[in-house]
Amino acid sequence: MIIDLHSHFNGGTKGDSPDTNFHKKSLDFILKEYDYCGIKCGGFTYFSAVHTNESVFEDNLLLFNQAKTNDRVYQWVVLDPTCDKTFIQVEEMLKSPKTLGIKIHSPLHKYDIDSYADKIFSFANDVKAFVLMHPDNIDGMVKYANKYKDMKLIIAHLGSEAHINAIKNAKHGNIFTDTSAGGMVSNNGLEYAVSKIGSEKIFFGTDTYACGYQIGRITYARISNEDKENIFYKNAVSHFNIK
Ligand SMILES: [Zn+2]
Repeated sequence: MIIDLHSHFNGGTKGDSPDTNFHKKSLDFILKEYDYCGIKCGGFTYFSAVHTNESVFEDNLLLFNQAKTNDRVYQWVVLDPTCDKTFIQVEEMLKSPKTLGIKIHSPLHKYDIDSYADKIFSFANDVKAFVLMHPDNIDGMVKYANKYKDMKLIIAHLGSEAHINAIKNAKHGNIFTDTSAGGMVSNNGLEYAVSKIGSEKIFFGTDTYACGYQIGRITYARISNEDKENIFYKNAVSHFNIK
């Protein structure tokens, strides 16, 4: 079994990402690719909700209703820390079994992560949620993970020494990462990460990049089968309500 914990699709809204012959962005396409590659389900946001902060609230709502009726669609609810009503929305949506946690994207939402970190992470701590973050000031995130032990932070796109150090330095063991996007193209990155931090802190994700490429990197990694299973699905099953 494989679970794609980090992906996106176009919801048909104004802020959709360009759908091209080289990179398709529809849920339909992604689910067909899942079928082809043996991926059971995914954790999604709309592209529009992470690309800008103009329609986060509306996008969250549309995806919430879609996740309710599609077994394979789980949701990361996008939080815009400059918009208080998204905090209320997130808290409400976290009650759904289809909601995995909170997604933040400070670079594309154009806010300084350190200015909002206490607001975001203290909230996540109160509601005991996972936060999936686009990497931003990775070294600086450790102090928040240490301060807010009931939140769990996934620093996406494993691809740097900083990811590994953050996971190692989190004294409550509450920093994680995922294999999504381009970082794993390096020929020893995954093997090195597993040798330093083990496989229990690493989730599988595609970020909509070719599933075959993303799966192949792990399938052919020089790590044990047990480590591969942890990354592909066991870690996701143990931390999230995914059946
Ligand atoms: Zn992403």
